[in-house]
Amino acid sequence: MRKENKRKRRPLILIGTVVTGFILLLTAARTTMQGTVEPVKTEFLGMNTYIMFTAYGSDAGEALQAAEQKMADLESAWSVTEESSEIYQVNHSNGEPVTLSGETAEVVGYALSMAEETDGALEPTIYPALTAWGFTTGENRVPDREEIQEILKRVGYRKIILNGNQIQLSEGMELDLGAVGKGYAGDVVTELLKKQGITSALLDIGGNIQAIGAKPDGTDWQLGIRSPFGEGTLGVLSVADKAVVTSGNYERYFVGSDGKEYGHIINPETGYPVENELASITIIAKEGRQGDTLSTALYVKGLGGAITYWKEHPDFDLIAVTDDGEIYLTEKIADAFSLNSAFGNMKVNVIEK
Ligand code: ADP
Ligand code: MG
Repeated sequence: MRKENKRKRRPLILIGTVVTGFILLLTAARTTMQGTVEPVKTEFLGMNTYIMFTAYGSDAGEALQAAEQKMADLESAWSVTEESSEIYQVNHSNGEPVTLSGETAEVVGYALSMAEETDGALEPTIYPALTAWGFTTGENRVPDREEIQEILKRVGYRKIILNGNQIQLSEGMELDLGAVGKGYAGDVVTELLKKQGITSALLDIGGNIQAIGAKPDGTDWQLGIRSPFGEGTLGVLSVADKAVVTSGNYERYFVGSDGKEYGHIINPETGYPVENELASITIIAKEGRQGDTLSTALYVKGLGGAITYWKEHPDFDLIAVTDDGEIYLTEKIADAFSLNSAFGNMKVNVIEK
């Protein structure tokens, strides 16, 4: 369970797809026999990832179509690379103010508030550093210290002025919703589906899982939490009406010419990819936006920082997996999580208030 087999390139979505997909199949079979509901699914690519929505109910097909369209609209507004997007315009505004749509102003406002609440561990302006490390193009490289110091001068959420729908960045700064957009979009879609009368659905946005209600038979969804050490499911989490979001540098990383592994989550204090005792951290929250931002931010903070943050803001739960194979989980979720027998040798520690 150490370095050599720790990281395998496999999209996080596979947790959701394989495990929940399997469970959904069982559900479908049973409910069909009873002659009641069958799930409706839609799968598509968006927000640089693989998306699968599953919903139950007679109007589910139409509702999912609207949900897919909404995702496409949000992506066109929030993409960093599409020239027509609002975020692209902000990033190419040369210090001039830009007027945002209401929804974009809200997601940016939320990201800024979480940046503040996590003492800058969430840093929505980290994009220039991601570029320097080549994560935005795939042409990865290790920048030298001087370059990183220069780049950090262009980073800092406090320098953003957001006034109503108007935003202004200092010249050279860039905004990136990579650590919040998928969760926020999941919340927008959840609201849309609920408005269309959907009471039971599962959203998988690149491994961000959001459960609307419970399964149609009223029991909890059973979500597989993927092992950060490679193949396999670490354990199963039983949830209803929750967002479950994991971050870790095992998903997207490269090996530098120095032989070191560099991941896509950057410590804003240093400008270097996060390097700490955490292999992954999963957040279980009421809303996707909180799960998404906290999974990234608490991964940056490391185990001790994550536990301290939870003690100060206990309105969510977490499951942290360390590089040396220990699991830490908050007390409320302890009974809802069951470790797979293949990982039965891992030490499980319950975090108490
Ligand atoms: P993923 O989107 O791969 O599931 P995360 O939600 O943890 O994983 O978000 C990682 C993405 O967030 C990176 O690809 C990058 O775009 C951005 N990012 C990296 N480091 C930070 C940071 N410290 N604060 C905010 N965003 C970050
Ligand atoms: Mg995130």
